[in-house]
Amino acid sequence: MIYGIGILRSMLVTLKHVFRKPITVEFPEKNRSVPIRARTNLLWFEERCTGCSTCAQACPDGCILVETSPREDGTLNIERYEIDFRICMYCGLCTEACPYQAIQSGGRYNDAVYTFEEMYRNKVSLAAESKQYLKETDGRYPNGQTQEEIEPDITTIPTARSRMKPAGQDGPIGPHHLPTKKNL
Ligand code: SF4
Ligand code: SF4
Repeated sequence: MIYGIGILRSMLVTLKHVFRKPITVEFPEKNRSVPIRARTNLLWFEERCTGCSTCAQACPDGCILVETSPREDGTLNIERYEIDFRICMYCGLCTEACPYQAIQSGGRYNDAVYTFEEMYRNKVSLAAESKQYLKETDGRYPNGQTQEEIEPDITTIPTARSRMKPAGQDGPIGPHHLPTKKNL
């Protein structure tokens, strides 16, 4: 029996790895590239949003706030759109519920902040982030499509709101039934 063969073997394994290219990166100085469709975060695209609040209703944590006001043409003006990332569990149910793909999974994964309050993101902050995202991806959304490729008959630039029927337009409920200043 030859003693020390096990030690030699393990040293050979170590030696083999010494000359290999490292597979780790020195985060946060270096960032590993992430596939475009990775579900890393939530991105809200203001230009696609109708203010229908379906996402807020689908969220089990109640962390999405949508506040709207009616326009003359029956569409909705989005006064507030906020996500409380302090309680978001990134389940993605809001993204699945949105009929207009205005909220999608994707974006930055390195969004650590110093204070808890910074995790409450308002409309301005969310819109700025998604604009930056589209700039970096040359207008391609996290789902891999461009604005023109996503149901072009329903939602089109410049605003989704200007091209689609608001919910309840022909029915008994909807923003068009809210009292306006004229008939108050
Ligand atoms: S990912 Fe889930 S918890 Fe977070 S906002 Fe969407 S539905 Fe709510
Ligand atoms: S479901 Fe989509 S379109 Fe409706 S308010 Fe939410 S993000 Fe906007």
